[in-house]
Amino acid sequence: MKKEAKRVQAIPPYLFARIEKKIEEAKEKGVDIISLGIGDPDQPTPDFVIEKAQEEMHNRANHQYPSSVGMLSCRKAIADWYQKRFQVTLDPKTEVCVLIGSKEGIANINYCYVDPGDINLVPDPAYPVYSIGTMLAGGENYYMPLKEENGFLPDLQAIPEEIAKKAKILWINYPNNPTGAIVKPGFFAEVVAFAKKYDLLVCHDNAYSEMAYDGYLPPSFLETPGAKDVGIEFNSASKPFNMTGWRLGYAVGNKEVISTLARYKSNVDSGAFQAIQYAVAEALTDPKGQEAIEHMKHIYEERRNVLVGGLNQLGWSLPIPKATFYVWAPVPKGYTGESFAEALLEKAGVIITPGAGYGPNGDGYFRASLTIEKERMQEAIDRIKKAFGKFEF
Ligand SMILES: *Cc1c(COP(=O)(O)O)cnc(C)c1O
Repeated sequence: MKKEAKRVQAIPPYLFARIEKKIEEAKEKGVDIISLGIGDPDQPTPDFVIEKAQEEMHNRANHQYPSSVGMLSCRKAIADWYQKRFQVTLDPKTEVCVLIGSKEGIANINYCYVDPGDINLVPDPAYPVYSIGTMLAGGENYYMPLKEENGFLPDLQAIPEEIAKKAKILWINYPNNPTGAIVKPGFFAEVVAFAKKYDLLVCHDNAYSEMAYDGYLPPSFLETPGAKDVGIEFNSASKPFNMTGWRLGYAVGNKEVISTLARYKSNVDSGAFQAIQYAVAEALTDPKGQEAIEHMKHIYEERRNVLVGGLNQLGWSLPIPKATFYVWAPVPKGYTGESFAEALLEKAGVIITPGAGYGPNGDGYFRASLTIEKERMQEAIDRIKKAFGKFEF
């Protein structure tokens, strides 16, 4: 067979593919596995959303090619929701683009702005698609370390001037996967000023805007004065409405960037299935959508308390994360992320994700997801306690 293109050769194996293989091997041996590894909601899509999709599947107008930028009615529902939720005004015609899952747009925006040899500013640790999307477009990543002592925010002032001048896209993501960190007041304004100074395109990933607890409501980057001049925001139906399998996300913000992304997309895909767009528009518009979000938040909050409370009894001293459905924790003394993950799998049948999978600065941490029932979560804690007792740090 022909050799793969260099850009494909350069892709490391997808993080979750490795974890899935380990789970498979253990399952083949008959082990009862509790996986805290994968960030995919376990609860079903709300019924009223499924019903709307069913109804629209019977409408033959939806059986044809959609427009790649999305139906105006869906873009309008997104804009109305942004107005209501964030007080951000968007023109549905020019400032909203529907995506086949936000991951699609996060990867594709690189092809719109990154030429071979260009640099993107990418957080480390991070959702892997930012850096791999950069690489696929032929660009290079400049990694901004996210350090615990800095609240897992990047230190923009530490970026060398010649890198900042050359850079194209600045990637940020709050609430943050994998660290669970939330943005600090003033940080988005600092980002806008930095982007203006160096002529950067800011891409903010707000996939966890609705998964927040204890009364905390995450902001949109676009609430920041000047944000629309420099950037766009990605968001998605995946996490708030348990719709990861449906594939519907969106990009909102700067109209030049939105139009470029839509122009690019019109040449590589033909948009999201319209029945799904109707279903997501319903989820965003019907008050039942908000009720479904509140319901899920309650469930994750309970699970978070079980997991963080349990880990803290085993020797950790973790703060209670205010958002996302992840707990980001240091590995105990004597372990690397990898060896800790292996020990938990072998001795307790529990899967966690080694932090290094999200970037070198994730080394020494692991990520646990709140996407399993709280009873199973408690069982995971009990098994770890039985197998290891207390840990030292
Ligand atoms: C889950 C997730 C997404 C959403 O992906 P979709 O393609 O919309 O399902 C985006 N960014 C981050 C950081 C995520 O964790």
